[in-house]
Amino acid sequence: MDQMPNCPKCNGEYVYHDTIHFVCPDCGNEWSGEEVAQSSDEFIVKDSNGNQLQDGDSVILIKDLKVKGSSLVLKKGSKAKNIRLVDSDHNVDCKIDGVSLALKSEFLKKA
Ligand SMILES: [Zn+2]
Repeated sequence: MDQMPNCPKCNGEYVYHDTIHFVCPDCGNEWSGEEVAQSSDEFIVKDSNGNQLQDGDSVILIKDLKVKGSSLVLKKGSKAKNIRLVDSDHNVDCKIDGVSLALKSEFLKKA
């Protein structure tokens, strides 16, 4: 690695690497390089209860949701299987009763 990341805590620029950890002299924060790499890639989607969702999970709607651009209303309690997480204005792609839907995880809970 030829460029040091900024400190994730205080955004300090004088980070150095002490063979195992990155160290920030400004705030004393230490963290492993691996964690930094993961957290920059990883995007986490949580349901309404704060449980982390993953591709392939099943979820249940916690409220009635109107589907944009249609008269369809998804009923509270509807179950979506095999969800797919996406990094967009919505964060869960799924199908309910064969209809492809784009949902927000705040209206879902893990089944
Ligand atoms: Zn710092």
